[in-house]
Amino acid sequence: MTNSSDAKNIRNVIIIGSGPAGLTAALYAARANLKPLVIEGTQTGGQLMITTEVENYPGFPNGILGPELMKQMRAQVERFGTEFVRGDIAAVDLKKNPFRVTTDEETFYGKTLIIASGASAKLMGLSSERRLMGHGVSACATCDGFFFRGKEVVVIGGGDTAMEEATFLTKFATKVTIIHRRDKLRASMIMQDRAKVNPKIAFIWDTVIEDVKGDPVVTAVRLKNLKTGQRTEMKCDGVFVAIGHEPNTKLFAGQLKFDEHGYIVTKKETTETSVPGVFAAGDVQDHRYRQAVTAAGTGCMAAMDAEKYLETLH
Ligand code: NDP
Repeated sequence: MTNSSDAKNIRNVIIIGSGPAGLTAALYAARANLKPLVIEGTQTGGQLMITTEVENYPGFPNGILGPELMKQMRAQVERFGTEFVRGDIAAVDLKKNPFRVTTDEETFYGKTLIIASGASAKLMGLSSERRLMGHGVSACATCDGFFFRGKEVVVIGGGDTAMEEATFLTKFATKVTIIHRRDKLRASMIMQDRAKVNPKIAFIWDTVIEDVKGDPVVTAVRLKNLKTGQRTEMKCDGVFVAIGHEPNTKLFAGQLKFDEHGYIVTKKETTETSVPGVFAAGDVQDHRYRQAVTAAGTGCMAAMDAEKYLETLH
């Protein structure tokens, strides 16, 4: 039971996350008069906030900066009366409807919940990597590869993402060097083979990056061979970190069905999760496409699915 002070906090739709998926869900829910509440998270605007130029989001023929795109999306959502709450969520209880969402300061209840908490690219954890993010360091070749036309780049990782990113980058870069910490790749054979036969791709084995150099843009990486201990410096213009992504799903562990990679499972061609009334959109349920435009698309679907579900409650 919810007590009376909580009762005012019952919403039709609570949206968790404020990237393209969350904001598109909010846009559709607001225009359906559902007065959505968006809990933004600490990285307001999601992963696009750490990207520079976005050239593959339709409608912007001259490209748009990631943070500017999110500002515009938000302004569009605000026009239709969406409430935003800053901060992170401490706990979520999906056992009964309305679902309980607790932030550090307040508790809200939602008749429906749209989870658009996204995914985070895993990073190596170097301070230079953070400092040069968007200035030669990237975690997304599809987003940033174009800026490395005629340049030399390195890709870190030995999985399918690293092979895919490296292969994609050869469209632009003159040379792509994959740096892997072991002497064996984790990637599937077909992806490995594709990378190995590509004349623009070279491999450096048993090696990690200790530092990314450059100011204000990347100029080199300092490498350490883990077998010999030898340290070397290698000139490059770009560093693509491709060591995997993590869906931001901790809050829902044990409450929703996840796939083997920890992503929320949605029913085919819908955004329905394993709990009726709870929907998921964007990268939190998609490790395949991971694009702003596909996230926005599933955000739209989630709002429409939530609206339909609310009708069944009357
Ligand atoms: P993976 O976890 O499969 O691979 C991550 C790679 O990064 C591993 O080679 C790992 O090394 C390395 N790594 C991890 N942490 C570090 C670190 N701190 N420093 C240096 N290297 C590190 O992630 P992916 O993103 O590649 O793939 C995730 C899933 O998505 C997989 O199941 C993959 O098959 C799938 N996928 C499929 C694609 C496709 O089919 N088209 C495309 C992309 C992904 P080590 O090997 O030593 O552990």
